[in-house]
Amino acid sequence: MEEKLKVLVVDDDEIDRMAVRRALTKAGVQMQLFEVGDGNSAIAALSNSSYDCVFLDYRLPDQDGLSLLQNLRLQEIKVPVVVLTGQGDEQIAVELMKAGAIDYLSKSRISPEILAQVLRNAIRVYKAEMQVALANQQLRESNDLLTRKNQELEVHRKQIEIQNLKLVEASKLKSQFLATISHELRTPMNAIIGFSQLLLRPKCGSLTHQQKDMVERILNNGKHLLMLLNEVLDFSKLEAGKLDLKPEIFDLSKVVNATVAEMRSLAQEKNLSLEVKIELPNSTIFNDPTRVRQIVTNLLSNAIKFTESGSIRVEVKQLAAEKVQLAVYDTGIGIDPADVQHIFEAFRQVDQSITRKYPGTGLGLPIIKALLQMMAGTISVESRLGEGSVFQIEIPRQILVPARQSGDGKGTGLTYSTSTNIWRQQEMARFAPEGTQRNSREV
Ligand code: ADP
Repeated sequence: MEEKLKVLVVDDDEIDRMAVRRALTKAGVQMQLFEVGDGNSAIAALSNSSYDCVFLDYRLPDQDGLSLLQNLRLQEIKVPVVVLTGQGDEQIAVELMKAGAIDYLSKSRISPEILAQVLRNAIRVYKAEMQVALANQQLRESNDLLTRKNQELEVHRKQIEIQNLKLVEASKLKSQFLATISHELRTPMNAIIGFSQLLLRPKCGSLTHQQKDMVERILNNGKHLLMLLNEVLDFSKLEAGKLDLKPEIFDLSKVVNATVAEMRSLAQEKNLSLEVKIELPNSTIFNDPTRVRQIVTNLLSNAIKFTESGSIRVEVKQLAAEKVQLAVYDTGIGIDPADVQHIFEAFRQVDQSITRKYPGTGLGLPIIKALLQMMAGTISVESRLGEGSVFQIEIPRQILVPARQSGDGKGTGLTYSTSTNIWRQQEMARFAPEGTQRNSREV
Protein backbone atom coordinates (compact mmCIF):
# COMPACT_ATOMS: atom_id res chain seq x y z
CA MET A 1 0.00 0.00 0.00
CA GLU A 2 1.27 3.43 -0.97
CA GLU A 3 2.52 5.41 1.98
CA LYS A 4 0.43 8.47 2.90
CA LEU A 5 2.33 11.70 2.20
CA LYS A 6 2.13 14.68 4.53
CA VAL A 7 1.76 17.79 2.39
CA LEU A 8 1.55 21.41 3.58
CA VAL A 9 0.01 24.11 1.38
CA VAL A 10 0.97 27.68 2.33
CA ASP A 11 -1.25 30.18 0.57
CA ASP A 12 -3.43 33.03 1.78
CA ASP A 13 -5.85 32.55 -1.11
CA GLU A 14 -8.54 29.98 -0.28
CA ILE A 15 -9.27 29.38 -3.99
CA ASP A 16 -5.65 28.64 -4.81
CA ARG A 17 -5.39 26.25 -1.85
CA MET A 18 -8.49 24.49 -3.05
CA ALA A 19 -7.03 24.22 -6.56
CA VAL A 20 -3.99 22.42 -5.17
CA ARG A 21 -6.11 20.19 -2.96
CA ARG A 22 -8.40 19.22 -5.80
CA ALA A 23 -5.59 18.59 -8.24
CA LEU A 24 -3.71 16.30 -5.82
CA THR A 25 -6.89 14.48 -4.79
CA LYS A 26 -7.87 13.98 -8.41
CA ALA A 27 -4.42 12.65 -9.20
CA GLY A 28 -5.05 10.01 -6.54
CA VAL A 29 -2.12 11.02 -4.32
CA GLN A 30 -2.42 9.24 -0.97
CA MET A 31 -1.87 12.10 1.43
CA GLN A 32 -2.76 14.08 4.48
CA LEU A 33 -3.09 17.69 3.39
CA PHE A 34 -2.53 20.58 5.79
CA GLU A 35 -3.14 24.22 4.92
CA VAL A 36 -1.93 27.52 6.41
CA GLY A 37 -2.44 31.09 5.17
CA ASP A 38 0.80 32.93 6.04
CA GLY A 39 4.54 32.55 6.53
CA ASN A 40 4.64 32.57 10.32
CA SER A 41 1.98 29.83 10.55
CA ALA A 42 4.00 27.83 8.00
CA ILE A 43 7.18 28.10 10.12
CA ALA A 44 5.23 27.14 13.23
CA ALA A 45 3.73 24.09 11.47
CA LEU A 46 7.08 23.02 10.06
CA SER A 47 8.80 23.46 13.44
CA ASN A 48 6.27 21.23 15.15
CA SER A 49 5.97 18.46 12.62
CA SER A 50 7.78 17.04 9.62
CA TYR A 51 6.28 17.13 6.11
CA ASP A 52 7.09 15.32 2.89
CA CYS A 53 6.55 18.43 0.79
CA VAL A 54 5.47 22.06 1.00
CA PHE A 55 3.62 23.96 -1.74
CA LEU A 56 4.43 27.60 -1.07
CA ASP A 57 2.71 30.61 -2.56
CA TYR A 58 5.34 33.19 -3.44
CA ARG A 59 3.24 36.11 -2.25
CA LEU A 60 2.18 35.81 1.34
CA PRO A 61 0.61 38.56 3.45
CA ASP A 62 3.45 38.66 6.08
CA GLN A 63 6.52 37.82 3.96
CA ASP A 64 7.45 36.70 0.47
CA GLY A 65 8.58 33.16 -0.43
CA LEU A 66 12.24 34.15 -0.56
CA SER A 67 12.40 35.38 3.03
CA LEU A 68 10.38 32.37 4.19
CA LEU A 69 12.93 30.06 2.59
CA GLN A 70 15.72 32.00 4.28
CA ASN A 71 13.93 31.71 7.62
CA LEU A 72 13.58 27.98 7.16
CA ARG A 73 17.27 27.71 6.46
CA LEU A 74 18.12 29.85 9.49
CA GLN A 75 16.06 27.59 11.69
CA GLU A 76 17.58 24.51 10.02
CA ILE A 77 14.19 23.20 8.96
CA LYS A 78 14.72 20.77 6.12
CA VAL A 79 11.82 20.03 3.78
CA PRO A 80 11.33 20.00 0.00
CA VAL A 81 9.59 23.25 -0.99
CA VAL A 82 7.85 23.78 -4.32
CA VAL A 83 7.09 27.48 -4.88
CA LEU A 84 3.84 28.31 -6.65
CA THR A 85 4.31 31.49 -8.62
CA GLY A 86 1.77 33.85 -10.14
CA GLN A 87 1.79 35.26 -13.64
CA GLY A 88 5.11 37.04 -14.23
CA ASP A 89 6.74 35.76 -11.01
CA GLU A 90 8.78 33.17 -12.91
CA GLN A 91 11.56 35.76 -13.16
CA ILE A 92 12.42 35.29 -9.52
CA ALA A 93 12.21 31.50 -9.72
CA VAL A 94 15.97 31.29 -10.13
CA GLU A 95 16.45 33.26 -6.91
CA LEU A 96 14.04 30.93 -5.14
CA MET A 97 15.91 27.85 -6.33
CA LYS A 98 19.17 29.39 -5.10
CA ALA A 99 17.55 30.03 -1.75
CA GLY A 100 16.75 26.33 -1.40
CA ALA A 101 13.41 25.69 -3.21
CA ILE A 102 13.41 22.35 -4.89
CA ASP A 103 11.13 23.38 -7.77
CA TYR A 104 8.64 25.99 -8.85
CA LEU A 105 5.40 25.93 -10.76
CA SER A 106 3.27 28.65 -12.22
CA LYS A 107 -0.23 28.56 -10.73
CA SER A 108 -1.63 28.78 -14.22
CA ARG A 109 -0.15 25.37 -15.00
CA ILE A 110 -1.64 23.51 -12.07
CA SER A 111 -3.32 20.30 -13.20
CA PRO A 112 -3.67 16.93 -11.43
CA GLU A 113 -0.98 15.26 -13.58
CA ILE A 114 1.53 18.11 -13.45
CA LEU A 115 1.09 18.74 -9.71
CA ALA A 116 1.37 15.04 -8.87
CA GLN A 117 4.47 14.75 -11.02
CA VAL A 118 6.03 17.89 -9.47
CA LEU A 119 5.28 16.47 -6.02
CA ARG A 120 6.88 13.09 -6.79
CA ASN A 121 9.92 14.71 -8.41
CA ALA A 122 10.35 17.12 -5.53
CA ILE A 123 10.34 14.27 -2.99
CA ARG A 124 12.72 12.17 -5.13
CA VAL A 125 15.17 15.03 -5.74
CA TYR A 126 15.04 16.01 -2.09
CA LYS A 127 15.79 12.42 -1.00
CA ALA A 128 18.68 12.21 -3.46
CA GLU A 129 20.03 15.53 -2.21
CA MET A 130 19.77 14.33 1.38
CA GLN A 131 21.64 11.13 0.49
CA VAL A 132 24.37 13.13 -1.23
CA ALA A 133 24.56 15.44 1.78
CA LEU A 134 24.76 12.43 4.09
CA ALA A 135 27.45 10.79 1.96
CA ASN A 136 29.37 14.06 1.89
CA GLN A 137 29.06 14.34 5.63
CA GLN A 138 30.32 10.76 6.04
CA LEU A 139 33.18 11.48 3.65
CA ARG A 140 34.11 14.57 5.64
CA GLU A 141 34.01 12.55 8.85
CA SER A 142 36.13 9.76 7.34
CA ASN A 143 38.51 12.37 6.03
CA ASP A 144 38.78 13.96 9.45
CA LEU A 145 39.30 10.54 10.99
CA LEU A 146 42.00 9.68 8.45
CA THR A 147 43.72 13.00 9.05
CA ARG A 148 43.66 12.34 12.79
CA LYS A 149 44.94 8.78 12.31
CA ASN A 150 47.68 10.09 10.02
CA GLN A 151 48.72 12.60 12.64
CA GLU A 152 48.74 9.87 15.28
CA LEU A 153 50.78 7.60 12.98
CA GLU A 154 53.22 10.40 12.32
CA VAL A 155 53.63 10.90 16.08
CA HIS A 156 54.17 7.13 16.50
CA ARG A 157 56.63 7.07 13.60
CA LYS A 158 58.63 9.84 15.21
CA GLN A 159 58.55 8.04 18.57
CA ILE A 160 59.72 4.81 16.91
CA GLU A 161 62.45 6.72 15.12
CA ILE A 162 63.65 8.14 18.43
CA GLN A 163 63.40 4.69 20.07
CA ASN A 164 65.38 3.24 17.16
CA LEU A 165 68.10 5.80 17.58
CA LYS A 166 68.21 5.03 21.29
CA LEU A 167 68.32 1.29 20.56
CA VAL A 168 71.13 1.70 18.05
CA GLU A 169 73.02 3.78 20.59
CA ALA A 170 72.36 1.20 23.34
CA SER A 171 73.40 -1.64 21.06
CA LYS A 172 76.59 0.23 20.15
CA LEU A 173 77.35 0.78 23.83
CA LYS A 174 76.65 -2.88 24.55
CA SER A 175 79.03 -3.97 21.76
CA GLN A 176 81.69 -1.57 23.01
CA PHE A 177 81.22 -2.85 26.55
CA LEU A 178 81.44 -6.48 25.40
CA ALA A 179 84.54 -5.72 23.36
CA THR A 180 86.26 -3.87 26.22
CA ILE A 181 85.35 -6.36 28.89
CA SER A 182 86.37 -9.40 26.87
CA HIS A 183 89.58 -7.68 25.85
CA GLU A 184 90.36 -6.79 29.47
CA LEU A 185 89.55 -10.28 30.69
CA ARG A 186 91.78 -11.92 28.13
CA THR A 187 94.98 -10.59 29.68
CA PRO A 188 94.50 -12.17 33.14
CA MET A 189 93.10 -15.26 31.46
CA ASN A 190 96.26 -15.65 29.39
CA ALA A 191 98.28 -15.31 32.58
CA ILE A 192 96.21 -18.03 34.27
CA ILE A 193 96.68 -20.33 31.29
CA GLY A 194 100.37 -19.53 30.97
CA PHE A 195 101.15 -20.07 34.65
CA SER A 196 99.18 -23.30 34.86
CA GLN A 197 101.07 -24.56 31.81
CA LEU A 198 104.32 -23.62 33.56
CA LEU A 199 103.25 -25.41 36.72
CA LEU A 200 102.58 -28.57 34.73
CA ARG A 201 106.09 -28.59 33.29
CA PRO A 202 108.28 -31.23 34.96
CA LYS A 203 110.95 -28.56 35.45
CA CYS A 204 108.78 -26.71 37.93
CA GLY A 205 109.13 -29.40 40.50
CA SER A 206 106.98 -32.36 41.22
CA LEU A 207 103.31 -31.89 41.94
CA THR A 208 101.29 -34.47 43.78
CA HIS A 209 98.75 -36.34 41.67
CA GLN A 210 95.96 -34.32 43.22
CA GLN A 211 97.74 -30.99 42.64
CA LYS A 212 98.44 -31.93 39.00
CA ASP A 213 94.78 -32.79 38.54
CA MET A 214 93.78 -29.43 39.98
CA VAL A 215 96.18 -27.43 37.80
CA GLU A 216 94.98 -29.34 34.74
CA ARG A 217 91.45 -28.33 35.59
CA ILE A 218 92.53 -24.71 35.96
CA LEU A 219 94.21 -24.93 32.55
CA ASN A 220 91.24 -26.54 30.80
CA ASN A 221 88.73 -24.17 32.33
CA GLY A 222 90.99 -21.25 31.50
CA LYS A 223 91.21 -22.37 27.88
CA HIS A 224 87.46 -22.79 27.72
CA LEU A 225 86.92 -19.34 29.21
CA LEU A 226 89.40 -17.84 26.78
CA MET A 227 87.53 -19.47 23.91
CA LEU A 228 84.27 -17.93 25.16
CA LEU A 229 85.93 -14.51 25.55
CA ASN A 230 87.33 -14.76 22.04
CA GLU A 231 83.86 -15.56 20.75
CA VAL A 232 82.38 -12.49 22.44
CA LEU A 233 85.25 -10.34 21.20
CA ASP A 234 84.91 -11.63 17.63
CA PHE A 235 81.19 -11.05 17.73
CA SER A 236 81.49 -7.47 18.93
CA LYS A 237 84.17 -6.76 16.33
CA LEU A 238 81.98 -8.26 13.60
CA GLU A 239 79.02 -6.22 14.79
CA ALA A 240 81.07 -3.03 14.72
CA GLY A 241 82.48 -3.93 11.28
CA LYS A 242 85.96 -3.93 12.78
CA LEU A 243 86.96 -7.45 11.93
CA ASP A 244 89.04 -7.75 8.78
CA LEU A 245 89.78 -10.91 6.88
CA LYS A 246 93.42 -11.64 6.23
CA PRO A 247 93.26 -13.67 3.07
CA GLU A 248 96.07 -15.77 1.69
CA ILE A 249 96.48 -18.79 -0.52
CA PHE A 250 96.29 -22.03 1.44
CA ASP A 251 95.36 -25.69 1.19
CA LEU A 252 91.78 -26.17 2.37
CA SER A 253 92.20 -29.97 2.77
CA LYS A 254 95.07 -29.44 5.17
CA VAL A 255 93.10 -26.98 7.27
CA VAL A 256 90.03 -29.25 7.38
CA ASN A 257 92.12 -32.33 8.22
CA ALA A 258 94.03 -30.47 10.93
CA THR A 259 90.81 -29.16 12.47
CA VAL A 260 89.22 -32.60 12.44
CA ALA A 261 92.36 -34.08 14.02
CA GLU A 262 92.18 -31.45 16.75
CA MET A 263 88.55 -32.27 17.50
CA ARG A 264 88.93 -36.04 17.29
CA SER A 265 89.64 -36.49 20.98
CA LEU A 266 86.40 -34.67 21.85
CA ALA A 267 84.44 -37.03 19.58
CA GLN A 268 86.22 -40.05 21.03
CA GLU A 269 85.34 -38.98 24.55
CA LYS A 270 81.69 -39.37 23.52
CA ASN A 271 82.30 -42.53 21.50
CA LEU A 272 81.33 -40.79 18.27
CA SER A 273 82.89 -41.81 15.00
CA LEU A 274 84.34 -38.89 13.04
CA GLU A 275 84.88 -39.24 9.30
CA VAL A 276 86.24 -36.86 6.70
CA LYS A 277 85.72 -37.08 2.98
CA ILE A 278 87.43 -34.48 0.83
CA GLU A 279 86.81 -34.51 -2.93
CA LEU A 280 88.56 -31.52 -4.34
CA PRO A 281 90.37 -31.57 -7.69
CA ASN A 282 92.30 -28.60 -6.40
CA SER A 283 92.20 -27.80 -2.72
CA THR A 284 93.96 -24.44 -2.93
CA ILE A 285 91.80 -21.50 -2.04
CA PHE A 286 92.26 -17.83 -1.35
CA ASN A 287 90.70 -16.97 2.00
CA ASP A 288 91.53 -16.24 5.62
CA PRO A 289 92.75 -19.67 6.92
CA THR A 290 92.25 -18.70 10.57
CA ARG A 291 88.64 -17.75 9.98
CA VAL A 292 87.93 -20.79 7.79
CA ARG A 293 89.35 -22.93 10.56
CA GLN A 294 87.18 -21.09 13.08
CA ILE A 295 84.06 -21.84 11.00
CA VAL A 296 84.90 -25.54 10.70
CA THR A 297 85.79 -25.76 14.39
CA ASN A 298 82.50 -24.15 15.41
CA LEU A 299 80.42 -26.42 13.20
CA LEU A 300 82.30 -29.50 14.36
CA SER A 301 82.15 -28.61 18.05
CA ASN A 302 78.40 -28.03 17.73
CA ALA A 303 77.99 -31.37 15.95
CA ILE A 304 79.92 -33.14 18.70
CA LYS A 305 78.23 -31.19 21.49
CA PHE A 306 74.70 -31.92 20.28
CA THR A 307 75.27 -35.59 19.40
CA GLU A 308 75.02 -38.31 22.06
CA SER A 309 75.63 -41.33 19.86
CA GLY A 310 76.36 -42.19 16.26
CA SER A 311 78.62 -40.35 13.93
CA ILE A 312 79.89 -37.04 12.63
CA ARG A 313 80.88 -36.67 9.00
CA VAL A 314 82.67 -33.83 7.29
CA GLU A 315 82.41 -33.63 3.51
CA VAL A 316 84.19 -31.15 1.29
CA LYS A 317 83.60 -30.95 -2.43
CA GLN A 318 83.86 -28.60 -5.33
CA LEU A 319 80.55 -27.25 -6.57
CA ALA A 320 81.28 -25.13 -9.59
CA ALA A 321 84.82 -24.29 -10.62
CA GLU A 322 84.68 -21.28 -8.37
CA LYS A 323 82.81 -22.64 -5.37
CA VAL A 324 83.60 -25.03 -2.56
CA GLN A 325 81.09 -26.73 -0.31
CA LEU A 326 81.73 -28.02 3.19
CA ALA A 327 79.07 -29.98 5.04
CA VAL A 328 79.05 -31.27 8.61
CA TYR A 329 76.60 -34.12 9.23
CA ASP A 330 75.65 -35.37 12.66
CA THR A 331 73.25 -37.90 14.14
CA GLY A 332 72.46 -35.67 17.10
CA ILE A 333 69.42 -34.21 18.76
CA GLY A 334 68.35 -32.23 15.67
CA ILE A 335 66.50 -28.94 15.64
CA ASP A 336 62.78 -28.29 15.61
CA PRO A 337 61.74 -26.55 12.32
CA ALA A 338 60.29 -23.68 14.38
CA ASP A 339 63.70 -23.07 15.98
CA VAL A 340 65.82 -23.30 12.85
CA GLN A 341 65.07 -19.72 11.80
CA HIS A 342 66.35 -18.38 15.13
CA ILE A 343 69.60 -20.27 15.64
CA PHE A 344 71.60 -17.77 13.59
CA GLU A 345 70.50 -14.90 15.82
CA ALA A 346 73.01 -13.69 18.41
CA PHE A 347 72.73 -15.33 21.84
CA ARG A 348 69.93 -17.59 20.60
CA GLN A 349 69.93 -21.16 21.76
CA VAL A 350 67.15 -23.67 21.29
CA ASP A 351 67.30 -24.34 25.01
CA GLN A 352 67.65 -20.97 26.72
CA SER A 353 67.00 -22.18 30.27
CA ILE A 354 69.69 -21.70 32.91
CA THR A 355 69.64 -25.42 33.56
CA ARG A 356 70.28 -26.28 29.91
CA LYS A 357 72.25 -29.38 29.19
CA TYR A 358 74.56 -27.99 26.50
CA PRO A 359 76.89 -25.10 27.34
CA GLY A 360 77.76 -22.24 24.99
CA THR A 361 77.34 -18.53 24.34
CA GLY A 362 74.90 -18.78 21.45
CA LEU A 363 77.36 -16.82 19.33
CA GLY A 364 78.94 -19.62 17.27
CA LEU A 365 76.44 -19.62 14.40
CA PRO A 366 75.99 -15.82 14.24
CA ILE A 367 79.77 -15.49 13.99
CA ILE A 368 79.89 -18.12 11.25
CA LYS A 369 77.10 -16.36 9.39
CA ALA A 370 78.78 -12.96 9.66
CA LEU A 371 82.16 -14.34 8.57
CA LEU A 372 80.54 -16.08 5.61
CA GLN A 373 78.84 -12.86 4.63
CA MET A 374 82.23 -11.19 4.53
CA MET A 375 83.46 -14.05 2.35
CA ALA A 376 80.42 -13.81 0.06
CA GLY A 377 79.56 -17.32 1.20
CA THR A 378 76.37 -18.89 2.50
CA ILE A 379 75.24 -21.32 5.18
CA SER A 380 72.19 -23.56 5.22
CA VAL A 381 70.88 -26.15 7.62
CA GLU A 382 68.70 -29.21 7.30
CA SER A 383 67.63 -30.94 10.44
CA ARG A 384 65.22 -33.48 11.84
CA LEU A 385 64.39 -33.50 15.49
CA GLY A 386 65.86 -36.61 17.12
CA GLU A 387 67.62 -37.71 13.93
CA GLY A 388 70.38 -35.21 13.27
CA SER A 389 71.44 -32.16 11.33
CA VAL A 390 73.55 -31.11 8.42
CA PHE A 391 75.12 -27.67 8.29
CA GLN A 392 76.34 -26.81 4.84
CA ILE A 393 78.49 -23.85 3.86
CA GLU A 394 79.46 -22.62 0.44
CA ILE A 395 82.40 -20.29 -0.13
CA PRO A 396 83.96 -18.91 -3.27
CA ARG A 397 87.44 -20.19 -4.06
CA GLN A 398 88.68 -16.65 -4.01
CA ILE A 399 87.23 -14.09 -1.70
CA LEU A 400 87.23 -10.36 -2.25
CA VAL A 401 89.92 -8.41 -0.49
CA PRO A 402 88.62 -5.61 1.65
CA ALA A 403 89.84 -2.34 0.18
CA ARG A 404 91.42 -0.04 2.74
CA GLN A 405 91.01 3.65 2.85
CA SER A 406 94.26 5.30 2.04
CA GLY A 407 96.25 6.05 5.16
CA ASP A 408 93.70 5.74 7.95
CA GLY A 409 93.91 1.98 8.22
CA LYS A 410 90.18 1.52 8.67
CA GLY A 411 88.38 -1.24 6.74
CA THR A 412 85.65 0.02 4.44
CA GLY A 413 83.85 -3.28 4.18
CA LEU A 414 84.19 -5.74 1.37
CA THR A 415 84.76 -3.71 -1.73
CA TYR A 416 86.67 -4.39 -4.88
CA SER A 417 90.40 -4.02 -4.69
CA THR A 418 91.90 -4.01 -8.18
CA SER A 419 95.61 -4.40 -7.63
CA THR A 420 95.33 -7.20 -5.08
CA ASN A 421 92.76 -8.93 -7.19
CA ILE A 422 94.86 -9.03 -10.34
CA TRP A 423 97.79 -10.37 -8.37
CA ARG A 424 95.53 -12.92 -6.75
CA GLN A 425 94.07 -14.04 -10.07
CA GLN A 426 97.54 -14.67 -11.40
CA GLU A 427 98.43 -16.63 -8.29
CA MET A 428 95.21 -18.61 -8.37
CA ALA A 429 95.59 -19.35 -12.08
CA ARG A 430 98.72 -21.28 -11.21
CA PHE A 431 96.72 -23.51 -8.90
CA ALA A 432 93.49 -23.76 -10.87
CA PRO A 433 92.57 -27.17 -12.25
CA GLU A 434 92.34 -27.82 -15.99
CA GLY A 435 89.46 -25.99 -17.57
CA THR A 436 88.73 -23.74 -14.63
CA GLN A 437 90.98 -20.91 -15.75
CA ARG A 438 88.82 -19.90 -18.67
CA ASN A 439 85.63 -19.99 -16.56
CA SER A 440 87.07 -18.18 -13.64
CA ARG A 441 84.72 -15.42 -12.55
CA GLU A 442 85.94 -11.90 -12.19
CA VAL A 443 85.67 -11.13 -8.48
P1 ADP B 1 76.01 -22.41 21.12
O1 ADP B 1 76.46 -23.67 20.48
O2 ADP B 1 77.09 -21.69 21.82
O3 ADP B 1 74.78 -22.57 21.93
P2 ADP B 1 75.52 -21.58 18.38
O4 ADP B 1 75.26 -20.23 17.83
O5 ADP B 1 76.69 -22.31 17.86
O6 ADP B 1 75.58 -21.40 19.94
O7 ADP B 1 74.22 -22.46 18.16
C1 ADP B 1 72.98 -21.92 18.47
C2 ADP B 1 72.00 -23.02 18.81
O8 ADP B 1 71.71 -23.76 17.63
C3 ADP B 1 72.50 -24.03 19.79
O9 ADP B 1 72.35 -23.59 21.12
C4 ADP B 1 71.63 -25.23 19.48
O10 ADP B 1 70.38 -25.06 20.09
C5 ADP B 1 71.45 -25.12 17.96
N1 ADP B 1 72.43 -25.97 17.25
C6 ADP B 1 73.55 -25.58 16.64
N2 ADP B 1 74.19 -26.62 16.05
C7 ADP B 1 73.43 -27.70 16.30
C8 ADP B 1 73.53 -29.10 15.97
N3 ADP B 1 74.56 -29.59 15.24
N4 ADP B 1 72.56 -29.92 16.39
C9 ADP B 1 71.51 -29.45 17.12
N5 ADP B 1 71.37 -28.15 17.48
C10 ADP B 1 72.30 -27.29 17.07
